[in-house]
Amino acid sequence: MEIAIFAVHLNFLDKMNFDRQRLLQMAEKYGTPLYVYDAEVMGVQYERMLNAFSSVKKVKLNYACKANTNLNILKYFKSLGAGLDTVSIQEAELGLKAGFENQEIIYTPNGVSFEEIKQAVDLGLKINIDNLTILERFGQEFPGYPVCIRINPHIMAGGNENISVGHIDSKFGISIHQFPLAKRVIENTGLRVNGLHMHTGSDILDVDVFLQGAEILFDVAAELKDLEYLDFGSGFKVPYYQGADETDIEYLGERLGHRFNRFADKYKKELTLMFEPGKYLVSQSGFFLASVNVIKQTTSTVFASVDSGFNHLIRPMFYNAHHEIINISNPEGRPRYYTVVGYICETDTFGSNRKISEIHEGDVLCFLNAGAYCFSMASNYNSRFKPAEVLWVGNEDYLIRRKENLEDLLVSTVEISI
Ligand SMILES: *Cc1c(COP(=O)(O)O)cnc(C)c1O
Repeated sequence: MEIAIFAVHLNFLDKMNFDRQRLLQMAEKYGTPLYVYDAEVMGVQYERMLNAFSSVKKVKLNYACKANTNLNILKYFKSLGAGLDTVSIQEAELGLKAGFENQEIIYTPNGVSFEEIKQAVDLGLKINIDNLTILERFGQEFPGYPVCIRINPHIMAGGNENISVGHIDSKFGISIHQFPLAKRVIENTGLRVNGLHMHTGSDILDVDVFLQGAEILFDVAAELKDLEYLDFGSGFKVPYYQGADETDIEYLGERLGHRFNRFADKYKKELTLMFEPGKYLVSQSGFFLASVNVIKQTTSTVFASVDSGFNHLIRPMFYNAHHEIINISNPEGRPRYYTVVGYICETDTFGSNRKISEIHEGDVLCFLNAGAYCFSMASNYNSRFKPAEVLWVGNEDYLIRRKENLEDLLVSTVEISI
């Protein structure tokens, strides 16, 4: 029984190059808490997605960098040939620093000021507009600057309400029902719309949801004459535990690729098919390592408290996300039930009643799927330092962000005399 648990873990772990010994070495070498990313896993995911759409002549994958904005990870995706999807001007600036050309960066903000949009024009980015008032103003001020329009197709998708962004009362995109208004704005201002975009949310399970959204996008696209690309956003699901569902990317590639080619033929122009995956490209590449400070046995629960908290990895608390937790210090130990918690002074539970091989104080726990929306959502709450990050490239390990120190905490503070 016990062996079976770890055997089952094994093939799930295989996909992420889970190397317990090497992770333990990282914990020893760099200390904990620590993020470790494996570039090879990112590369495999990138290639897998490209291959899935090999029937389409021009495909561009723009890495949605809000998942993980470490400059070296951006540079790695640049080296693979990816573009970059950014949601703030700061992310775009990081992208430029990482070496992306301005037209390789798509800027897809929501609810930002027109000032920020102007900055994006100054930087020469691809710009994706998601509301009518900005579209109109943009058309008046920059009629010659090509833009992409974000359509909200109003299909319900996404793993939970927080990350589902395409439903009827979502704040994202220009409603498909308001497209006639958008079209009038385009005609009146002479805007050149060269891209059409949708992004319906994260964790979409069903390929048909994508296809349904795609049909809506094709309908709209047929009404625009200057298109160069169609951007189908993202939301690809990766497994977070053994047996969990994942988006069948090959099947999606086959179906959508075929449909896209048919549309492009009819449109009589070579169009680029774009996606902007974040989680799909980096989630499984990441491991978060934390050491157990305290084992506390109460009448009903055994708590394992680690040297971290939601200041470093907030997804379990914020999204109720499941991250597998493995005791890499004692993999063959007798499995017991633990509630793994952080050191933050409020409730911060990473996982309740998890079956984990016996934990002793000082053991290193490994949290899986820590590549996406983990470090990038980290904070300094409780005045804790953000952890270091390490990137594996082949057999080498590189420190790509040092751990913070007290000076970092004070760097933007302006001290006045009181
Ligand atoms: C967050 C985001 C993505 C990436 O979503 P994933 O689920 O991480 O793949 C893509 N496009 C836009 C516009 C986003 O806001």
